[in-house]
Amino acid sequence: MENYIYMDNAATTRLCDRAVSAMIPFMGEMYANPSSGYGFAYKCRRMIEKERENIAGYINAFPDEIYFTSGGTEGDNMAMKSFVKKDDPIAVSEIEHHAILNACKDRKVISIPVDKKGIVNLDFIKEISDKVKLISVMMANNEIGTVEPIYEIGDILKDKDVLFHTDAVQAFAHRPVDVREMNVDILTASAHKFGGPKGVGFIYVKRGIDFIPLIAGGGQENNKRAGTENVAGIAGMSAAIKYSYDNMIKWNAYEKKLRNIVVKYIKENIDDVIFNGDMNMRLSGNINVSFKGIDGRALQFFLDDNNVCISTASACQTDSNSVSHVLTAIGVPKDYAIGTIRITLNHENTENEIVKLCELLKAGVFMLRNLK
Ligand code: PLP
Repeated sequence: MENYIYMDNAATTRLCDRAVSAMIPFMGEMYANPSSGYGFAYKCRRMIEKERENIAGYINAFPDEIYFTSGGTEGDNMAMKSFVKKDDPIAVSEIEHHAILNACKDRKVISIPVDKKGIVNLDFIKEISDKVKLISVMMANNEIGTVEPIYEIGDILKDKDVLFHTDAVQAFAHRPVDVREMNVDILTASAHKFGGPKGVGFIYVKRGIDFIPLIAGGGQENNKRAGTENVAGIAGMSAAIKYSYDNMIKWNAYEKKLRNIVVKYIKENIDDVIFNGDMNMRLSGNINVSFKGIDGRALQFFLDDNNVCISTASACQTDSNSVSHVLTAIGVPKDYAIGTIRITLNHENTENEIVKLCELLKAGVFMLRNLK
């Protein structure tokens, strides 16, 4: 395999070795269906229940509040569709992931505005909290990295007759989560964003909240999510959570250090740039930067030619002239927004990779600006 410099960890992460080791037995000799009625199957069932307990412990939940899913998209769809009636009004922030926005297209939705840093308007949430049945605000934004004031929102909503969901796909296992302190009713997580396997995740649902399953079928997951469990996936996810929690403080500090090197370099070497998102309340590895007068995709191709993997946040796939809903919401001027890239670092990136990235950014932006 080619030697890539991988800096797109918000898209997905490398499966960590501990997750691989935890999964191997369940992709090999431990292949029984956990719902079957013999000792071989009970061993798989026991592993699932042990890992459910493990995961619940990390977020201060009870094991019966954890439902395994196929990942973030399913969890977000459940949150939008399973807990309220179709005609019930709901409110979601305007910078949610499409797994939320597209899942509630056919609902009565109030859009919660954000400020220039991408932080939701708490007064607005207070005002609408009596008018809606469900409020969904993500814990951290996948494009600009802003971490939302979830604890404050939970405080506002805790005594109200409204459910509070948070999409924690980008934040969980990178930042501490305590569902009771946060006063959230429903929370979505996805394993491949923190060194676990793709196609598995979980949703937390507070005890006492009933819901209609999104996926009908057998009686798995306490009759709430049908389908034979992704046994190896659950083992891998749980191992990745443990690994992330054991190293969370260290990795956050390291990622922030790398991020600061890149930000400083760009500020000192490239003119006409805007850094997007909140500079303090943000995911430690996220850099979202707009370069005036270039096309972010052209810069992405240039970096790709040099085996550096980053993402653009400026253009949606179908219309090259439109900017993402997140950049629009925070008001990035169009001549900057088109030139936006997202770099998402993690603990596996090295300082040498950062040096290479910085040099390429300078050369790439210079070259693209001089093409005109
Ligand atoms: N929510 C957020 C904030 C995300 O960043 C993503 C993935 O990028 C998802 C939901 C969807 O997660 P998954 O890829 O596990 O379906």
